[in-house]
Amino acid sequence: MRTIGHFIDGNRVAGTSGRTKDIFNPNTGEVQAKVTMATPTELDSAVASAAKAQLLWAQENPQRRSRIMFAYKQLVEANMDDLAEMLSSEHGKILADSRGDVMRGIDVIEFACGVPHGQKGEHTYGAGPEIDVYSLRKPLGVVAGITPFNFPAMIPMWMFGMAISTGNACILKPSEKDPSVPMRLAELFVEAGGPVGLLQCINGDKEIVDAICDHPTIKAVSFVGSSDIAQYVYARATANGKRAQCMGGAKNHGIIMPDANMEQAAKDILGAAYGSAGERCMALPVVIPVGEGTAERFLEALLPKIEAMTVGTSTDPDADYGPVVTEAHKKSIEADIDKAVAEGATLIKDGRGYILQGYEGGFFVGPTLLDHVTPDMETYHEEIFGPVLQIVRAKNFEEALRLPSEHQYGNGVAIFTQNGRAAREFADRVEVGMVGINVPIPVPVAYHSFGGWKRSAFGDANQYGMEGLRFYTKVKTVTQRWPEGETDDSAFIIPRF
Ligand code: NAD
Repeated sequence: MRTIGHFIDGNRVAGTSGRTKDIFNPNTGEVQAKVTMATPTELDSAVASAAKAQLLWAQENPQRRSRIMFAYKQLVEANMDDLAEMLSSEHGKILADSRGDVMRGIDVIEFACGVPHGQKGEHTYGAGPEIDVYSLRKPLGVVAGITPFNFPAMIPMWMFGMAISTGNACILKPSEKDPSVPMRLAELFVEAGGPVGLLQCINGDKEIVDAICDHPTIKAVSFVGSSDIAQYVYARATANGKRAQCMGGAKNHGIIMPDANMEQAAKDILGAAYGSAGERCMALPVVIPVGEGTAERFLEALLPKIEAMTVGTSTDPDADYGPVVTEAHKKSIEADIDKAVAEGATLIKDGRGYILQGYEGGFFVGPTLLDHVTPDMETYHEEIFGPVLQIVRAKNFEEALRLPSEHQYGNGVAIFTQNGRAAREFADRVEVGMVGINVPIPVPVAYHSFGGWKRSAFGDANQYGMEGLRFYTKVKTVTQRWPEGETDDSAFIIPRF
């Protein structure tokens, strides 16, 4: 059986721990490979080589660094099909979604090509008598990125794209469920002419995450995953004096106002709730129609669309979505549906026990729709992370605004309306980090930045954009004065005009 090790100092290495985890083919349920868990000693060797590479990289002129980033962007683009296939085979998302995953990562690499513009600092001429002040944004050194299973291309590129382009070295610790794409992305960086050691990939679980948080040479930790672990990593990394930005879980709400274009809203919500089998932190698993009439019209528009959806394998070009990532995850989604029903929700569409003919061992969950969900239900508060849409009916705008604002998570939210005034007020008052107005998945473009509020993010800095640039750099401010010297060597005397 194929075993995936690590990418250390420019080479794929097997790993020494003898401790492995299974990587599944979610379409069939079979184990297709194993991934080796790294030891702290292997981390030490990766960090030592990263630190060496970083010293030289930081001295490179910014334009040369940009050229490498640009060559890398082109090489990732050229490898799009291979990366997408690899991604779908371990994650289970359909090929179109895998391409989107890689593409959104490339967007950040593209932004990273222009980092010298953002990193050039500030300058005040004549802050005092003959005194000039300038600020520099210096790289931190060696930093680490710890990523979740659901975007194995995009999220690593969010992190190392910004880290490396600003002059750092990066140790990437991908999810143990689908590590092949992050491994390949690290390898491609060297193939694009990137210095050996600057980007390395270490596979592992809690043991290696703890070692990263405790490592004295690692200066910053960027994490994306579930909230309890995000909070744990944030606490452990910052207790060790590191910078940390730790993104957590989500439960995004879509508010439908009575004046919404219902056909369009239902189409958008269908894609946002069930696309990628709901395994997106910016999915819309909760919909809030305002008023009973709106709820009924929404159901009328949505139900035929759900019926027309195709659940298939990740390589089926006609499938709307594929299997979920593991059997354990399938069971946890089904257990949440059981619980929602026990709590009193109305089950309109039941995706439990979904069998795809010919793929009986696959981790498929059918589209599920729960109505009359109420805020006192536990399943409303928890993240299900599957193809499950919950309808919470609200009486009015204020109630619809309060629900996402009071929810423990605050990643994304969307409002569907034709009333600009209502949309503007909603966007202003809602306690959520990323807002869509008639946009179901408001993931900010690469030159803005990504980050939720409340238990969706721990730490101050968002991912990528100028926020990312600031996270991976520290400011040094120089105040200088050059008084006239005692020397009478005319060659050194600066003429005065
Ligand atoms: P996860 O929390 O299980 O794993 C994330 C990372 O943490 C992995 O690299 C994993 O190896 C590591 N890890 C797992 N258990 C650990 C432990 N006990 N101690 C230390 N590290 C540990 O998350 P996941 O299931 O891979 O990903 C799905 C989650 O990620 C969802 O909650 C989703 O909402 C969230 N997510 C959030 C964002 C965001 O930007 N807010 C984006 C994508 C995904």
